[in-house]
Parts: sequence; structure tokens; C-alpha cells
Amino acid sequence: MNSPIIIALDFATAQQALTFAAQVKGTGCKLKVGKELFTRAGTAVVEKLVAMGFDVFLDLKFHDIPNTVAGACRAAADLGVWMVNVHAQGGRAMMEAANDAIAGQTHQPLLIAVTVLTSLSAQDLAEVGIASDSSAQVLRLARLAHSCGLAGVVCSPFEIKLLRQFVPDFTLVTPGIRPATAAQDDQKRIMTPAQALQAGSDYLVIGRPITAAAEPLAALAAIEASLHGVS
Ligand code: C5P
Repeated sequence: MNSPIIIALDFATAQQALTFAAQVKGTGCKLKVGKELFTRAGTAVVEKLVAMGFDVFLDLKFHDIPNTVAGACRAAADLGVWMVNVHAQGGRAMMEAANDAIAGQTHQPLLIAVTVLTSLSAQDLAEVGIASDSSAQVLRLARLAHSCGLAGVVCSPFEIKLLRQFVPDFTLVTPGIRPATAAQDDQKRIMTPAQALQAGSDYLVIGRPITAAAEPLAALAAIEASLHGVS
């Protein structure tokens, strides 16, 4: 069973994450481990999730000198994760080193780039010296990632159309997804799962609408049902 849904395991303890994972085992969804859970629970929780049979997206957004990022990518591959990511802002040499590092491993996770964090406004970008508007910068960095051999990017569902036009074969991973009935939380520009899939997303990152639901399995099933017939 294959699902485009990646559930963000934004939990503070390994126990919470593993209890939740046991609930959704067998549904075909994938799981994302981010900085909070990883910093608290370390590689052990990732290894346990992989051993449970999950495809795990290790969302640590590596950004450092090429040698260090290459080593981190090799470590991620050794953990058996399905997807790992780096900041495209780290530049060509860093992304190529990451790509080469993974290409040399027996198990090769999908290597994805983060372009511009969707939390940054035009003013925030200007403050860090990026004068171009956000979508121009997203496209610039996505093309760079593509030319470095990466598999895709994390992007807002509102960037899918632009990216599909210029990097059509890229894997697009989109957070900022909210079922019509769910709370918006702190997400600003959202699409429903069906809208994002229809727009061309490959994978939908969804956290709180499932993890914070009174009945997570029912919430997940409702989202899956909303996707039937959409592609
Ligand atoms: O709970 P929610 O569905 O908002 O979770 C979305 C997940 O995707 C979180 O783990 C968040 O860190 C991540 N994310 C995001 N926006 C980005 C990049 C990552 O929401 N631009």
C-alpha cells in the first residue's frame, strides 16, 4: 500500500513518537523525524521506526561545509532512512558533495533540498541580503539543486506550478497542508490534501491535523479518502 502522506512526528519524546507510529503502522503512510524529536531522542528513534518498516524522512536540513554535510548524509544513509534533506543555500559544492556521498552508499535515501523557508517574508529575506522576491529565489535554488543531481525540493503547495514548469521531473514535497475541516494552526498559506495533490505534489507533509486529532487513524483515513481519484 503506497500513500503520498508523510506524517510529521513532531513529538517531544521517543515514547510518544513510537506509540503514535504503532497506531499508524500498516496504513502505508511515511513518517518525518525533525529537529525536535531527533535532538531529544537521537538516532535510536529513527532506527526503531525503520525497523518497524516505515519509510522515514529525516528532516534535519543539513547546512554546513561540504565535507561535514557529506558525512552527515552518509550517516543518514547508514540509518536506513528513505529521504534526507539539505539547505540549497549551502551552495553547489555542498549539494554535490551530499549527492556524491549518498551515491556511494549501499542504501541511497532520496536527497531533497530546502529552498526558501516558507516562514520568511520578503522583509526577512531583504534583511539577510536576498533582494529578489521569494518565488524567484525558490526557483533559482530549485534549479541549482536540480543541476547538482538532487531528487527534489520541499516547497509550498503554492510553488508547485512554477517548479513543475521549470524542473518537471523533480520530486515535490509539500507541507502547509490542511484538510478543509482542520485548524489552520500557525500555517499561513495552506491547501487541502486533494488540492495539493491535484496541483502536482508528490508527497504531502501533514502533522497536527493527524497527530493532534482525537482519533488519528480516523483523521488519516478521512484524508486518504479525500485523495481517492485525485492525481
Ligand atoms: O503540523 P503541521 O502539519 O503544520 O506540520 C508541518 C511539518 O512540516 C512540520 O514538521 C514543519 O516543521 C514542517 N515544515 C513546514 N513548512 C516548511 C518546512 C517544513 O511546515 N516550509
